[in-house]
Amino acid sequence: MTSPITIHPAVDRGIKPKAENFAGGTLLCQCTDNRVAVAIKGQCAHNHVCGCTKCWKPKGALFSQVAVVPRDNLTVTKNGEKLAVVDPKAVIQRHACKQCGVHMYGRIENKAHPFYGFDFIHTELSNEDGWAPPEFAAFVSSIIESGANPNNMGAVRGRLKELGLEPYDCLSPALMDAIAIHTAKAAGAQSH
Ligand SMILES: [Zn+2]
Ligand SMILES: [Zn+2]
Repeated sequence: MTSPITIHPAVDRGIKPKAENFAGGTLLCQCTDNRVAVAIKGQCAHNHVCGCTKCWKPKGALFSQVAVVPRDNLTVTKNGEKLAVVDPKAVIQRHACKQCGVHMYGRIENKAHPFYGFDFIHTELSNEDGWAPPEFAAFVSSIIESGANPNNMGAVRGRLKELGLEPYDCLSPALMDAIAIHTAKAAGAQSH
């Protein structure tokens, strides 16, 4: 399963299955001391690798790995004073450690947003095994905006498929549908 294309450290050597009844874990920033700690209760959902330019990625990774959890299941437990919002004008308020730069969680404050109520997290920041693994690849074409070689896109999409991560250039159809349903309901065009 070795490939010259590296996607993200969490998937490059094969994808680990989730643990049943996973209780959650603690996300830690990458500072050497006084690490920011964020406790997550329970399992994550919609985990995926993301090629957008906004999500935090580990050094050298082509994609980020990002999942959601209900915001009530997320608590900053240590060194929260080190956190600052990366871009206060962004839809997703990414709370990053001011010292090491790692994004600890992203939160949507706009109650009308389809994903309001969910926080975005990077499960590789936790030492616990058993998180639900990535299911697809989002915003694949956007890696070009971060400097990826456009000539490698065929190989990148091929590698993603080999890993079972269907490549999409937006979100997955299920999440795009969820957004459209939310938008339609808000506009009164859907009652389902
Ligand atoms: Zn840090
Ligand atoms: Zn992203």
